[in-house]
Amino acid sequence: MIKNIDPSIASFVMPMQRKKRIGLVAHDHRKSDLIDWVAHNRNTLMQHELFGTGTTGGLLSEKLGLPVHRFLSGPLGGDQQLGAAIAEGRLDLLVFFWDPLQAQPHDVDVKALLRIAIVYNIPMACSRSSADFMISSALMETEYERYVVDYGQRLKS
Ligand code: PGA
Repeated sequence: MIKNIDPSIASFVMPMQRKKRIGLVAHDHRKSDLIDWVAHNRNTLMQHELFGTGTTGGLLSEKLGLPVHRFLSGPLGGDQQLGAAIAEGRLDLLVFFWDPLQAQPHDVDVKALLRIAIVYNIPMACSRSSADFMISSALMETEYERYVVDYGQRLKS
């Protein structure tokens, strides 16, 4: 039984450990902001496991010396790899600074990633202030029972 959830909401639990697996992605015009945010939260982020799309992850390693598991570059499939990691329970949180002013060649992949993050109910911050609220949450330091709506049941009915 999940705490604080009405049992009539058909759902299952994907447990999150104290050490979170965090995905970090930024579009080109948003990369400097993400790097600055990561630098400010370096000590906290070092307690977790970091994943990033190719260029974003490379810049974070190069400029801040942080260990980041790198997927492919976003336009070459990195967003889809992040989405697959979410669906397979290999990623707990996503910080995604997407660019509101520029269409991307891989817009469909971006949309798919945003969608799959909602399907699996992972915490997702798409702006610096929401990332601040997320990183400073007490839940970052504890285990957490993340519920996922059982969409399979809904599709059957
Ligand atoms: P990048 O990909 O980190 O390889 O630039 C980001 C994205 O566009 O999704």
